[in-house]
Amino acid sequence: MELKEKLKILSDSAKYDASCSSSGSYRKNNGIGNAAPAGICHSFSSDGRCISLLKILLTNCCIFDCKYCINRKTNNIKRAIFTSEEICNLTINFYKRNYIEGLFLSSGIIKNPDYTMELLIETITLLRNKYHFSGYIHAKAIPGANNNLVKKLGLLVDRLSANIELPTEESIKLLAPNKNSNKVENIMNLIKNSKSRKFVPAGQSTQMIIGASKESDYEIISKSEYMYNKYNLKRVFYSAYISVNKDKYLPTLELPPLKRENRLYQADWLLRFYGFKTNDLLDQNNPNFNILLDPKANWALKHMEEFPKEITTCTYNDLLKIPGIGLKSAKRIITSRNKFKINFNDLKNMGIVLKRAKYFITCNGKYFIDSSLLKKQFIETNLILEDKEKINKSITQLSLFNE
Ligand code: SF4
Repeated sequence: MELKEKLKILSDSAKYDASCSSSGSYRKNNGIGNAAPAGICHSFSSDGRCISLLKILLTNCCIFDCKYCINRKTNNIKRAIFTSEEICNLTINFYKRNYIEGLFLSSGIIKNPDYTMELLIETITLLRNKYHFSGYIHAKAIPGANNNLVKKLGLLVDRLSANIELPTEESIKLLAPNKNSNKVENIMNLIKNSKSRKFVPAGQSTQMIIGASKESDYEIISKSEYMYNKYNLKRVFYSAYISVNKDKYLPTLELPPLKRENRLYQADWLLRFYGFKTNDLLDQNNPNFNILLDPKANWALKHMEEFPKEITTCTYNDLLKIPGIGLKSAKRIITSRNKFKINFNDLKNMGIVLKRAKYFITCNGKYFIDSSLLKKQFIETNLILEDKEKINKSITQLSLFNE
């Protein structure tokens, strides 16, 4: 099979992994630059830079039969496997042409987990030692592989991830019968406990598929919180389930639940940077996010007794609880109010989204709008409308050259 054909198959098979997203561009190369080569995606390095990666599988052959996966062994699809040299050549050539800054390498399980890990290690060792590639590499560790192999791979790559895929053992048994969460968590534990600074320097991440199994948002975000706390993960990625297989255990979804995925990302952000806990946002009686409202606004509306916050005196942590105020804005408020007496205009200039924040704040004792209007129903309706407007705007703004 020609290399180009392999690249097409093995980049296409890798696109369901959410840890980086495909560029989705089909523009042809008519001169300098090419946005189209299969398998280029974007990811974020540990310092927050957006970097483009060649995102491929070593092979889409797999001995496992995860029901949601296009590469499961019972699917009749075209299979391919790269040699180590082929992956090195692609990476180096794409890098030299400036298409990519790094490699994202995952794999189906061929023969057994150890054998697959050995192939990944052989490939990345070649890339590092023979081709002297020092760029960013994110690899997938294969659950069930020997710990020594995980340790070896971890010393070669920047980021390593083991995908938990589903939030409960019950769903894993049902949809990924060859897997179990202990094997995944064993890898997470091993990465977390490594003392070497050269081992997985950009940290570890994982992925959960959203909507393939019956768990609520509460169960999903609780699992994320547990993994962040226990294994010090850098990121949990949420991947809206895309229906690629028919199976009696899978839901029939016409479209992937992208809005739900988005709400989970927003909630995840609140857990990691805004001091929220899962139980602040959801509970057993109220287990799913409001699709119409972002989780922070939803929380604020349920805790109206906490508002208004006086912007000139409240703590940094309180500022972070206000809808429309992000991390940067909160820091700017603190810096500015230490220097001068701030007013609503200053807040606008600091990038505060007053359209959202105005219902929840006072500035020097004054409300931004008539305080008699500040009833929960009124605020909720306006926040939902504002959210819709934002979505519509982002759709119409896609064209730079609208007449
Ligand atoms: S292990 Fe499961 S999810 Fe991974 S490639 Fe094989 S069938 Fe797909």
